Amino acid sequence: MVRAVLIILAIGLGIIAVVLNNESGQIFLLDRGVKLAMAQDYEHGDDSLRVLVCGSSSPLPAAGRAQGCIAIITPEHFFVIDSGAGSTRNLQSANMPLNRLDGVLVTHFHSDHIAELYEVNLISWVGGRPEPMKVYGPKGIKKVISGINDTYELDVQYRTEHHGKAFMPEKLAVLQPVRLDADEALTIGSLKITSFSADHSPISPAVSYKIEYKDRVVVVTGDTNVTTTLAEQVKGIDLLLTDALSLPILDRMIAGATEAGRTRGAKILKDVQDYHASTEKLIEMIGASDVQMTGFYHMVPAPTNIVMEKIYKNDLPDNVVLTDDGMWFTLPVGNDRVQVD
Ligand SMILES: [Zn+2]
Ligand SMILES: [Zn+2]
Repeated sequence: MVRAVLIILAIGLGIIAVVLNNESGQIFLLDRGVKLAMAQDYEHGDDSLRVLVCGSSSPLPAAGRAQGCIAIITPEHFFVIDSGAGSTRNLQSANMPLNRLDGVLVTHFHSDHIAELYEVNLISWVGGRPEPMKVYGPKGIKKVISGINDTYELDVQYRTEHHGKAFMPEKLAVLQPVRLDADEALTIGSLKITSFSADHSPISPAVSYKIEYKDRVVVVTGDTNVTTTLAEQVKGIDLLLTDALSLPILDRMIAGATEAGRTRGAKILKDVQDYHASTEKLIEMIGASDVQMTGFYHMVPAPTNIVMEKIYKNDLPDNVVLTDDGMWFTLPVGNDRVQVD
């Protein structure tokens, strides 16, 4: 029996090797792959609020993870919150319908939150978005967007000239800044997005966003410390996506950097400690505020091995997960479920 299985396995591997090493075999496999890739489509029929982690890392390097990015999608709405380096590829890999992107919400203007604003705009423009892309954010948004539009003016021009004005009109590639300050809200049909103050001091302004879709509620923090405002805003919500800083890991990294004579690195690691939410404070707040499910993203640092993961998970309640790029949270309307995939 075992021998028969081994023979079948050997024949199978032999056939695969022949197909892979033969030009027409390669074309056959490529055609199959292309056909499958082209047929993939995000659209789901049901009325759920879906949340994609399109970037789970902070600026501290973590292979395989993009910087801060969360996508919010319903059958009628599609917003991206922050656009860190590497996040557009994650949106593309998830087959997100970028041609119907309603806009990007920016929490603050640190580079790891705005690095790919033009990139996501470009892919969405190429995909056929019918309106210019709106970028919402607090005071400073106009300055940032004006600079991006200036920087990429030639890129827009090249692409319009190359593909034709009818196909890629320039005006659809110009980002549109929309000021949305703390305590202001944006309502589109059954979706309400409210901006509220974050404490990322000395960086100001910085905001978090509360997303309400029918009976489901999600908060995305961007970068913040735990504050009474945040604790108030997350009371009883379905899902919290928050930045999270591991003091035990950072402390060891600072000690290691100091010992190795990397004084600049040690200083930076010390400086970041006071403007992100520590895991201890988050766990305390999540329990007290009755948050149903929490995902740590924008992790400082994002775990890159099992030891770091284990340290993050020490004392972590069952309803808190460490996110990865490409992780989905699905919140069906009309019940309390939060599904994690
Ligand atoms: Zn920041
Ligand atoms: Zn950040």
